[in-house]
Amino acid sequence: MSSRNRKSRSSRFSLNRSNLPLIVAAAMTAASVVVVIVVMLGSDEPEPAPKQSSDIAGPAEPVPAETLPPEKQAGADPIGDLIASLPDQSGARPETSTGTAPADPSSVDGEPAWKRYATAVTVPEGQPRIAVVIDDVGLNRARTNDAISLPATVTLAFLPYGDDLQKLADKARTMGHEVMLHLPMQPDSDKDDPGPQALLTSLPPGALGERIAANMDSFTGYVGFNNHMGSKFTADQAGMGAVMEAARSRGLMFLDSRTTPHSKGGAAAARFGVPALSRDIFIDNVATEAAVRKQLDKAAAMAREKGHAIIIGHPHEATIAALRAWIPTLKDVSLVPITALLDATGGVPALATTPEAD
Ligand SMILES: [Zn+2]
Repeated sequence: MSSRNRKSRSSRFSLNRSNLPLIVAAAMTAASVVVVIVVMLGSDEPEPAPKQSSDIAGPAEPVPAETLPPEKQAGADPIGDLIASLPDQSGARPETSTGTAPADPSSVDGEPAWKRYATAVTVPEGQPRIAVVIDDVGLNRARTNDAISLPATVTLAFLPYGDDLQKLADKARTMGHEVMLHLPMQPDSDKDDPGPQALLTSLPPGALGERIAANMDSFTGYVGFNNHMGSKFTADQAGMGAVMEAARSRGLMFLDSRTTPHSKGGAAAARFGVPALSRDIFIDNVATEAAVRKQLDKAAAMAREKGHAIIIGHPHEATIAALRAWIPTLKDVSLVPITALLDATGGVPALATTPEAD
């Protein structure tokens, strides 16, 4: 379009009265093309993080890129082709895993985030299910891309303080993953650093509320959250109550990572009506491919026995490699995104959570 501008500008130098109307018309056409392109580009821009309101279900949110109609991605007109050829087209999502998100989430009131951002999945009746959640995503770029390249049924939990958080989360969703917020919480040991803005039991209610909101506002498009560390904080009843109150108002689900057997997360979630699940197995406490594989096979056995299993891993090379090898071997067990373990009301259908300390 810039060459077209240059052309119309340079033609003014040889201006004579007889071709003036023609030149004016050409200039107006060029200008309108520019306007159309600018408008269309603007509509595809993800909203910058600081502009997001405290309510992720708020009406100010842009239409998620993946809900753009396909004709907008590769149109028959030159402008459409130009748009389609631009780099970083988060809207160019394949037709797979369009999810249960409605065409325009901003027009839907009251649908909780855990449903709105869930991906659609079909599981044969009665088949055991496994949800794999990869934690600590978003810090190391290469590892994040590795995690995103895993099959779409793997759920990715992003830490709120990585660079390009929204962009990476959007990319993960574009690839079909369900995305979670990996909410940093205080561990028992002072030697472990949960990172900036972690939830601490020592914070007064006002400051705690601000940190919860800051973390939950760090990006959009996630179905819910699980705790990063948190062996101390999740055992704090009042603290977990404050977290669940915020989760309830934002329509989030909760996965208890169970970093302590004393977690009050499940009870607090029940009190506030927050859909809640609980981790069964950590797969990479020993981060070798063989050890991870052993844990994965254990998880499959657990799923066959009790109907489902929830496993948590990290974007270690060994974990990624073990998952890549293991996933294609699953025949009688379905790998599902985390929300596929909830029923329509957010309950956990016909399953008992196993009390287990890890
Ligand atoms: Zn973590």
